[in-house]
Amino acid sequence: MLDVNKIRNDFPALDQMVYGQPLVYFDNGATTLKPTVVVDTLKEIYSKRNSNVHRGIHYLSLRMTEEYEEARKRVRKFINAGSDREIIFTSGTTASINTISSTFGEEFVKEGDEILISAMEHHSNIVPWQILAKRKSAILKVIPMNDKGEIVMEKLDDLMHEGTRILAINHVSNALGTINPVKEIIQKAHKENIPVLLDGAQAIPHGIVDVQDLDCDFYVFSGHKVYGPNGIGVLYGKEEWLEKLPPWQGGGDMVEKVSFEKTIYADLPFKFEAGTANYPGAVGLAKALDYIDTLGKDRITAYEKELLNYATSRLSGIDGLKIFGTAANKISIVSFLLEGIHQEDTGMILDKMGLALRTGTHCAEPVMTRFGIDGTVRASLVFYNTIEEIDRLYEGLIKLKQMFK
Ligand code: PLP
Repeated sequence: MLDVNKIRNDFPALDQMVYGQPLVYFDNGATTLKPTVVVDTLKEIYSKRNSNVHRGIHYLSLRMTEEYEEARKRVRKFINAGSDREIIFTSGTTASINTISSTFGEEFVKEGDEILISAMEHHSNIVPWQILAKRKSAILKVIPMNDKGEIVMEKLDDLMHEGTRILAINHVSNALGTINPVKEIIQKAHKENIPVLLDGAQAIPHGIVDVQDLDCDFYVFSGHKVYGPNGIGVLYGKEEWLEKLPPWQGGGDMVEKVSFEKTIYADLPFKFEAGTANYPGAVGLAKALDYIDTLGKDRITAYEKELLNYATSRLSGIDGLKIFGTAANKISIVSFLLEGIHQEDTGMILDKMGLALRTGTHCAEPVMTRFGIDGTVRASLVFYNTIEEIDRLYEGLIKLKQMFK
């Protein structure tokens, strides 16, 4: 069992009043709060240990380089990648996807080829592929979802063929909470020789990622959604793929030798890390992953499941409340609407009660279009949330309904 009261003390942001009420933070899908250990690490680096990596031969630089490379190993272990060469630090999920859409696209996508995504993608996993499709006169195809917010697997079979160059899909939907059957999807794609990129932005904080077991070709996520710092992210790629791809950005650190006639690129993973690295971010991220492992991934998963089940049954009991995203396999996200009350009004009034929820399209506009709505209210729950907080949401919604009667 998780000691949630003790855990909450690790997150000072939880201990504050908003409009005279104790804060309930249910916007974890947008960004998670940071444990003290992460904040302290950043403070220590900036105040004492700061020095650029991979450059200096002096003490501080060598030490920071060591910490940065240790952070890479930490990430490798956390997602069970086979080699440090497969772990590239980026600024986040968006940058990681753009790296692949640009480099893979440059090398392997040509006119008339197809790029496959799903109907439940975040804009970050749509727009980069649209840009590529436009640049290469390729075609973007979309795997549909059913009314529960689950991928229609039979349609996936129909959509994959010889001309499909890559399949990019989220592991978990940020708008609906669906955990996609990505292992099965990857197996199907690989049978057709189609590489798969998984957008793991929402899966990684829930501790369910093993890239070797999944056998994905690329896996991407952001530090700030997994209790780590902002501005740091990860691109995992199978070595055999990363070797074949050209660099995305040019600059310092990604080169072995430079002359005006010819440049030799650095080896993996540095080929994809141009410019000064975000080493404080990487080390802070490693601390966040340590923190999660100390709590225990299995315990986190079990507790968050409990929160999801409780929130789903409590909210379902409210007359006129509809939940969007009722997949059999879900993480702890509850997206909903109250009949006759606009999602923004719901969000604004709950905010005045001290409850922080996300409203709008969640950067997944096509999901909203699919359900014929303009947005939802989203509660995304994690291990520092409590049953009592869900009760406060329930009571807040009941009060809100009375106000709108
Ligand atoms: N993909 C998914 C599923 C997300 O939920 C998000 C952020 O909400 C992103 C991609 C983009 O992440 P970032 O803005 O950190 O690059």
